[in-house]
Amino acid sequence: MSKFIFITGGVVSSLGKGIAAASIGKLLEARGLKTTIIKCDPYLNVDPGTMNPFQHGEVYVTDDGAETDLDLGHYERFTNAHITKDCNITTGKVYYTVITKERRGDYLGKTVQIIPHITDEIKRCIKKVSHEKDVDVTIVEIGGTVGDIESLPFLEAIRQLRWELGESYAVNVHVTLLPYIKSAGEQKTKPTQHSVGRLREIGIAPDILLCRTEKHISKEQRDKLALFCNVDREAVIEAGDVKHIYEVPLSFKKESLDDLILKKLNLKREDRDMKEWKGLVIKRLKTPQREVKISVVGKYMALQDAYKSIYEALIHGGIANDARVHIAKIDSEDLEKGNLEKYLQGAQGILIPGGFGDRGIEGKIRAVQYARENKIPFFGICLGMQVASIEFARNVCGLSGANSTEFDKDTPNPVVSLLEEQKHVKNLGASMRLGAYPCKLIKQSKSFQAYRKENISERHRHRYEFNNKYKKSFEAKGMIFAGINSSQDLVEIIELKDHPWFVACQFHPEFKSKPDQVHPLFRDFVKASLDVKRIS
Ligand code: GLN
Repeated sequence: MSKFIFITGGVVSSLGKGIAAASIGKLLEARGLKTTIIKCDPYLNVDPGTMNPFQHGEVYVTDDGAETDLDLGHYERFTNAHITKDCNITTGKVYYTVITKERRGDYLGKTVQIIPHITDEIKRCIKKVSHEKDVDVTIVEIGGTVGDIESLPFLEAIRQLRWELGESYAVNVHVTLLPYIKSAGEQKTKPTQHSVGRLREIGIAPDILLCRTEKHISKEQRDKLALFCNVDREAVIEAGDVKHIYEVPLSFKKESLDDLILKKLNLKREDRDMKEWKGLVIKRLKTPQREVKISVVGKYMALQDAYKSIYEALIHGGIANDARVHIAKIDSEDLEKGNLEKYLQGAQGILIPGGFGDRGIEGKIRAVQYARENKIPFFGICLGMQVASIEFARNVCGLSGANSTEFDKDTPNPVVSLLEEQKHVKNLGASMRLGAYPCKLIKQSKSFQAYRKENISERHRHRYEFNNKYKKSFEAKGMIFAGINSSQDLVEIIELKDHPWFVACQFHPEFKSKPDQVHPLFRDFVKASLDVKRIS
């Protein structure tokens, strides 16, 4: 039976609970334990699929086609856990199930209540994942901050679970903040004491405190935290700021967090050092031999989290090529008029990520033209492939007014359009082409060179597709259809013949890249960009 680690957050949001959870997963995996991770999100949306990135950040897509919280992306990047739709439990999902059961008459005669019906459903969902995945340890991260009304049913559910499981089967980790007050010249423990107090009021006693801090924690502060929060001294873990998120597992290891968790869960596993992670990932992140500048042209540039997996995959591409990747974030609306040089000067590679809606589209189309004409390596992803098709249609094939029907319903040349099945979709939630689909590569392509195999599988999240009617005229002008989904005859990858590296795909390769297992397309895109000499 799986053991559990419950992770809660206190004091403020954005403490990096997701990274902490993923790092714990990494540490335990390094000790030979099989783990999985669950994220509980206390909002009423069934999933984040219909939320704006400004609200939520990136929507992360799993192989089985779930639109999930971006923390699940951290889990997959840090660990080998296979994350599926059940790994994201939202309040919306839980209520949906309970209310559906109520309507069916499953609770006939009873009053349906938050406790026990909602909490039971939460527990059922958590147990289902740990059971089906047959893991040694299930890590459960509760979203939000202790004290929020929304997360109470989740906290009550993990309290009950811990009670049912017994001591050595579950450990509570509380991620908290020790703010440093400059004028007083010291770190403050009071917010943590209050947050632990809130947890204790609802019956949860943290076993481990993961203290986010800018400064080292002194012995006195550790003693104070241990005494007032009722934890062992060794369970006050310093989680200092680090430059790269991939250093977090090592900083936890330095504090012996893995030993502590194993002890509390009564598990014995050999200690292995994390040589590969340290050697390859951290060394290359910290002291790379080369540098490269990649411009990402999108529309949510002010928000760090909107293209999380894209930025991470570029960093992985850098690790694989022993290079530091400088990412220039460019708002496509700025490219709609005037001279592009001002914004794209010095870019050794240009990437256009996925997106929805017509804001900034013309700027993206101009960025593609710039990359194509100046022979700058270009990587288009999902919407990025669609705008690359529009640009090629208009400027190379001479198909005037070419567009996607997403942006212009009456375009005379719909080079990107809806499939028949998508035309009848009424509900917007979970109704796109989602999750993993196979794709066959042609041998004479940059993509085949990258993957070094013919059959691949990649994750999707889109409604619109390349319109096959235009294939012939594109081919005649030098476009290669390098990847095809044969069963549905859909274009998955387009490439340009006379260009150093121009690859655009309908799927999202960024979701499958890891720091120590870089995605081949990101690796080769960064490699091609490194070959470009530009003066910034
Ligand atoms: N809006 C486009 C579509 O729905 C692209 C989606 C995306 O980039 N994820 O097809």
